[in-house]
Amino acid sequence: MKKHVVVIGGGFGGLSIAALLARDGWDVTVIEKLDDLGGRARHWKHDGYTFDLGPSWYLMPEVFERYFSLFGKERKDYYNLLPLDPYYKVFFGDGDTAQLSPRKEENIALFESFEPGGGEALSRYMQQATYKYTVAMKDFLYKEYKHLGEFFNKRIMTEGLRLGIFKKLDKFVGNYFDDRRARQILEYAMVFLGTNPVDAPAIYSIMSHVDLELGVFFPDDGMAGAAQGFVKLCKEMGVRLVTGEEVTEIVTEQGKAIAVQTTKDRYAADVVVSSADYHHIDTAVLSTADSQYSNRYWEKRVVAPSMFIVYLGINRKLKNLEHHNLYFAENWHTHFDTIFKNPTWPEKPCFYLSCISKTDPKSAPEGGENVFLLVPVAPGLDDSDEQRDRYLAHVLEHVKQVTGEDLTQDVTVQRVYTHRDFIEDYHAFKGTALGLSHTLFQTAVFRPTHRSKKITNLFHTGQYTHPGVGVPMVLIASEIIAEEIKNSYGS
Ligand SMILES: Cc1cc2nc3c(=O)[nH]c(=O)nc-3n(C[C@H](O)[C@H](O)[C@H](O)COP(=O)(O)OP(=O)(O)OC[C@H]3O[C@@H](n4cnc5c(N)ncnc54)[C@H](O)[C@@H]3O)c2cc1C
Repeated sequence: MKKHVVVIGGGFGGLSIAALLARDGWDVTVIEKLDDLGGRARHWKHDGYTFDLGPSWYLMPEVFERYFSLFGKERKDYYNLLPLDPYYKVFFGDGDTAQLSPRKEENIALFESFEPGGGEALSRYMQQATYKYTVAMKDFLYKEYKHLGEFFNKRIMTEGLRLGIFKKLDKFVGNYFDDRRARQILEYAMVFLGTNPVDAPAIYSIMSHVDLELGVFFPDDGMAGAAQGFVKLCKEMGVRLVTGEEVTEIVTEQGKAIAVQTTKDRYAADVVVSSADYHHIDTAVLSTADSQYSNRYWEKRVVAPSMFIVYLGINRKLKNLEHHNLYFAENWHTHFDTIFKNPTWPEKPCFYLSCISKTDPKSAPEGGENVFLLVPVAPGLDDSDEQRDRYLAHVLEHVKQVTGEDLTQDVTVQRVYTHRDFIEDYHAFKGTALGLSHTLFQTAVFRPTHRSKKITNLFHTGQYTHPGVGVPMVLIASEIIAEEIKNSYGS
């Protein structure tokens, strides 16, 4: 008889660990509370529009290629990728815009136009980012950290300064550039990691290698389409996929999980892997005696932003937008402060706007545009209906001022998704979109552990754990855990 593993949650984390464990000879059941698989990366279809509910940037393609190769497969058998050109457009206010290009020389010319010497500074900056990325991929990301000594190893002690572990990104970028536009382009991706450039360790300059050198891609059915590729892989590997059932209890006996109780059934388990929001499993699904962390621990975490998202179906073509568009306010620290220091709804927010119909015509009816507007906001804010309505009107007016596009005209679909939805759909801690921020003390060994210290056969994957936030990171976490399970239980 094969041993049985129950995986809680059917997002990228749950699907990726499930397929790996099935490959290793386990009988695998994934239990997902929602009716669809994909977790934060699901589709929402309405009136001829197909929206990506959550992630929309396909970054670090090599991580996905590597993942499929672990099965002797190729990613292209599961979904296609289109390279984006331009990668993205940036609005800086007052009509000032820039486009980031797949061609290095165009980006160098752009940075030179920002400030004299900016082009050469960009080349130097990218060299260090590439170096750090190579070291991170080889020595840090695909690695399990069980104790501090493994993190503060010889390499960190000798090279920590060069790698930027102990510096802050904002200051580090300031050593290369004075121009605020150059700095913002090299720092904005910290929002992908749920953190503030002022607090993020400078090692995260690797993100500029990720977007400007590894490139920005679009899976042919969006990120949710890529998640469906993982569903297909799971099915081929014989994984049982159960949807519409919520796990309410992990049943334990003498420090071991023996079963998983859902709203509909009970599943015996030799091993349990959770990819659901860690805080929810730790505080609401496990008994207090079995929880890994105290309430005090959770309250002291720096929780990553929530997001105010608007899905819009517009029955007209928008001229001023590309596939990915970003707006960086002149003083964006004011916005970051409303997220990390004084939680409030930002008045003049930076925002991200995607228009995937520029690349994928089937995502909108003919002649229409598929628009996704996202404002990062503090977790735990008041999210009443009145507040949503007020903020929606405010943000759409702001978008019109910045981009010149009026997104209140010819609207056929409109939906707001924010704190309450993250809590209702995923049991997200304080309505966070991304889990825990990537501050230094929430990086690597400092993230919540993969393996429970109380329940020996309970593991956690997903964005709360090392290496962290974002789909590629979640795939890496699953690889690490599959290896750990193989080492502990054989295959
Ligand atoms: C708006 C948004 C934009 C993003 N943009 C990007 C991007 O552009 N690129 C990128 O790489 N990443 C992006 N991310 C981050 C990325 O989406 C996540 O890091 C990743 O998808 C998390 O995967 P996961 O499996 O850890 O969690 P999830 O996808 O949340 O999966 C966890 C699953 O567990 C289920 N669950 C919860 N509780 C239970 C229970 N009790 N019983 C059963 N099931 C349960 C949930 O329903 C959910 O389906 C974005 C995230 C958001 C929200």
